[in-house]
Amino acid sequence: MPTILQKYGGSSVADADRIKHVARRISRSYEGGNKVVAVVSAMGDTTDHLIDLAHQVSPSPAPREMDLLLSTGELISCTLVAMALHELGHQAVSLSGGQAGIQTDAAHTRARITGLDPKRIQRELEQGRIVIVAGFQGVTEDMDVTTLGRGASDLTAVALAIGLGAERCEIYTDVEGIHTADPRLVPGARKLKEIGFDEMLELANYGAKMQPRSIELAAAYNMPVLVSSTFVEAPGTLIHGGAAMEVRNKVAGVAADRNVAKITVLGVPDRPGIAASVFEPLARVGISVDTIVQNASVERLTDLTFTTTRTDAQRAMEVVEPVAREIGARGCASAQDLAKVSIVGTGMQNAPGYAATMFRALYEAGINIEMITTSEIRITCIIAEAKVPEAVRALHDAFQLEKE
Ligand code: ASP
Ligand code: MG
Repeated sequence: MPTILQKYGGSSVADADRIKHVARRISRSYEGGNKVVAVVSAMGDTTDHLIDLAHQVSPSPAPREMDLLLSTGELISCTLVAMALHELGHQAVSLSGGQAGIQTDAAHTRARITGLDPKRIQRELEQGRIVIVAGFQGVTEDMDVTTLGRGASDLTAVALAIGLGAERCEIYTDVEGIHTADPRLVPGARKLKEIGFDEMLELANYGAKMQPRSIELAAAYNMPVLVSSTFVEAPGTLIHGGAAMEVRNKVAGVAADRNVAKITVLGVPDRPGIAASVFEPLARVGISVDTIVQNASVERLTDLTFTTTRTDAQRAMEVVEPVAREIGARGCASAQDLAKVSIVGTGMQNAPGYAATMFRALYEAGINIEMITTSEIRITCIIAEAKVPEAVRALHDAFQLEKE
């Protein structure tokens, strides 16, 4: 009997009616003669509310307590889905991440999965039960509950699909699949039938609403992921490792990430070791730095600019300011209201003209580019956040992404 692994996002289980709807969908898969395991996220904005609540009680809540708190969101939804399945006459059992056998390290709020022991799930499946697993969480060796980072129910789902030998991991959400751009910004955005892991990973890292680590894991084990709608019966997007014929030699999509700040260290003396002395302390406190630009020096002074998430910007300034003084730089400046727009496609490897088309499209839309970075299959421009909708539309048009 094949094992089907499904994941339902927060908006799919946002209220009692939706939970009943999800239960009916799960029930259909079960009645089709499958073993079914479903991973669920917390209902609607529950996780945001819990984080907010914690901060009302304490400005810096202890990460261990935070994790136990946040794990309750997914416990609520998985138990309710199991109850709704009981009402449909099925045997169903809900399991916390720990009960489901998900072991993690102790890096609270961003734990990594270190092992998976699916024995309990397998036992329940053997007995004909449908298994509902609380996403986004696991346990440490000491049985402390951990969470895996925002949006990480996707990661739970992919890990279980791999561990249980499912043919693919099905992710159900409030959109019909992966689109060439956010359909709320670009009405003509087109749903992709398929996309490669590498392109999806770039899109996810640069703003598409999928958890990047889940894509990394799926790619590492070559586990296909189907993204489709909970509410609309329509074919979704298959993310997989085979040749994505549809997007060969083409831009696959445009992504935008609004969580961007930039920090500039001004008038840095141009001598060996300076970059290391700025970035080492940032790495030590776990701030990840993205785009880095160092200008050519004028009279042995240069400006060093880099981006971080807006969330990390304040902390990054606190780290960099003393370093700037130490190395004799003129000062530091930061800007918060920035965003990244990116085009992604394996087709741009070894093909000229993509960058030129991108820069012209932004220019014609009257958008200033502050910084540029590239990978083999991506070009990213840092722009003002306010310009994101126009930029995404301009790029979608310029690369004619509405056409098959
Ligand atoms: N509930 C968690 C979050 O909102 C995990 C998830 O939704 O995947 O980040
Ligand atoms: Mg959520």
